[in-house]
Amino acid sequence: MSADPNCIFCKIVAGQIPAQKVFEDDEVLVFKDIQPWAPVHLLLIPKRHIVSMVDVTPAEQALMGKLMVLAPKLMAEAGVTNGFRQVINTGIDGGQEVFHLHMHAVGGPRPWAKA
Ligand code: 5GP
Ligand code: ZN
Repeated sequence: MSADPNCIFCKIVAGQIPAQKVFEDDEVLVFKDIQPWAPVHLLLIPKRHIVSMVDVTPAEQALMGKLMVLAPKLMAEAGVTNGFRQVINTGIDGGQEVFHLHMHAVGGPRPWAKA
């Protein structure tokens, strides 16, 4: 599925609801989390509507690698110099609340709550 009309992150991709974007290309969007856990909290998403890691296919390996490699670069650009976390919550018991695959990149000076 390329977009789900009921999905909040698809609406952000489509520009139908606002977000503080920090990076965008043809297949990836990165924006600030609306309820940050830490001084810097980015969400990295594929623009395509992929529900969760369970739905990732081998064809999306490069896309997932792109998210993985992009996060450290953007955290450095955001001034995070002393470490950060990259987190993907998958499914109900994984704590996933938005069912459009996203990677949290969370960092900045501690203390901040562990998710
Ligand atoms: P999950 O628990 O699914 O891994 O994380 C979903 C994240 O999306 C949460 O950290 C939440 O604050 C964030 N979020 C939910 N709705 C919005 C929104 O409309 N805009 C932005 N920027 N973040 C959102
Ligand atoms: Zn979506």
